Amino acid sequence: MAQKGVQIITVEPGSLAEEAGLRPGDTLVAINGEAVLDQLNYQFLVTQRDETGLLVQRPDGSTFEVDLENGGEGLGVDLAQDEVKVCKQNCVFCFVHQMPKGFRKSLYLKDEDIRLSFLYGHFTTLSSSDDAELDRIVRERLSPIHVSVHATDPVARVAVVGNPREGDILRKIDHLLAGGIDVHTQAVVAPGLNDGAIWQRTLDDLWARRPKPGQRGGVLSLSCVPVGLTAHRENLPAVQDISQAYAQAWVARWTPEVRTYAKANAGEPWLLLADEWFTRAAVEVPGRAFYSRSWAQLENGVGLVRRFLEHSRRFIRSPRAQGFKGRRALLLTGSSFAPVLTRVVAELNRTTGSHLRVAAARNFSFGDSVTVAGLLCGEDLKYAAHADREAKGGGADWVDAVVVPSASLRTHTGPTDQYTLRGVVVREEGTFLDDLTLPELAADLGVAAVPSGANLSHLLDHLEAADRGAFRGGALHRAFHADGLNLPQGAYNP
Ligand code: SF4
Repeated sequence: MAQKGVQIITVEPGSLAEEAGLRPGDTLVAINGEAVLDQLNYQFLVTQRDETGLLVQRPDGSTFEVDLENGGEGLGVDLAQDEVKVCKQNCVFCFVHQMPKGFRKSLYLKDEDIRLSFLYGHFTTLSSSDDAELDRIVRERLSPIHVSVHATDPVARVAVVGNPREGDILRKIDHLLAGGIDVHTQAVVAPGLNDGAIWQRTLDDLWARRPKPGQRGGVLSLSCVPVGLTAHRENLPAVQDISQAYAQAWVARWTPEVRTYAKANAGEPWLLLADEWFTRAAVEVPGRAFYSRSWAQLENGVGLVRRFLEHSRRFIRSPRAQGFKGRRALLLTGSSFAPVLTRVVAELNRTTGSHLRVAAARNFSFGDSVTVAGLLCGEDLKYAAHADREAKGGGADWVDAVVVPSASLRTHTGPTDQYTLRGVVVREEGTFLDDLTLPELAADLGVAAVPSGANLSHLLDHLEAADRGAFRGGALHRAFHADGLNLPQGAYNP
């Protein structure tokens, strides 16, 4: 009978694994008597002792044991990708439930996996983590873990996550903290659902669990993120959207509190406000000191705008910026980021003599309430580029290049695609959410189409790469900066 374990895909020539007779297609069943669960678990088990005992299964079902002196090092094998775990929640604002129909299958996957949380900073509600998995996190020191708390009040949390068994999130968090694991937390805030006294209790409960001197394991940060609703909420519970007035009130109330909490936390920000509060409130994002030194929760949309502004300020004054001189490009982005980008581009044009322009693309796919760059689809960007060309007289050479937000592109290097597209041919060219590819967009527009990267320096690299024809033939991922790709839904990137 087939045993569980992880399949070996390649064996490095000259490696210990090859010496021991391991072959591609074999399954690593156990290491030192413990079942191998996945890649992370393999890395943990194989580094525990200088001598390692393996139980291996051949494709024909036969097994053999072998002992290796590996000195706590890897064996020289690549293992099969792990399948992603899916969540057991039914959150009232789940983005997957609000997706239009017809996108590729992997986008509807409700992944919730502590391994992705540890490796990529994905947030997990811990719904699929029982005590055994929490023990595993502690034993393998998968720290920090990113946890979606939403509310510590059990009744409110059940109302948010739609799962009557998942009200007591503090029990799970305390299990991790007791084991010395650090935790970043977030609450997605929806008016009338988990704001007001519920939010205050969440804040108090998590603040009480912040890191203390001489103690391992603490809640490193709490971010609040405004709820994101699309135009596709048919048959879903009513959730109130965040109005501009609500966002302004939130910013006015909590911006000073962020500073108070930072002061009480030895100067390091602990309470974090996502950029989206400021863009929805139509107010300037705060200065650098408002964000943590390590840009904690950047992937969650906390500080992306400020980091972009800081980088742009320095870059525009550098000699390298002169590489933009004379360039004519149209920069497409979401309507929430467009005002910031327009300001930066005006300064770049003034300083370098470039002719860049910014256009906000409407999100026809998800609806006008979705204003972030990362959720623009290829057809939305195509429409915006054509509209701009018409407005400029319809000439074929109206710009030299169209720049699309990196955050709107996915390559199949993202964890979710890796996990779900196992065995499917990998595409290298960069694909929008609706499966239009960057080369297809460029062909349609008749000009180069390049990803923005995470800052102006990346953008210049990409424009220069396009000059050299580096994006031809779909060889996108070898010619571009990967920063900014595969960001979580809702994150900003120009
Ligand atoms: S929001 Fe996340 S945890 Fe909640 S139902 Fe959707 S995928 Fe699951």
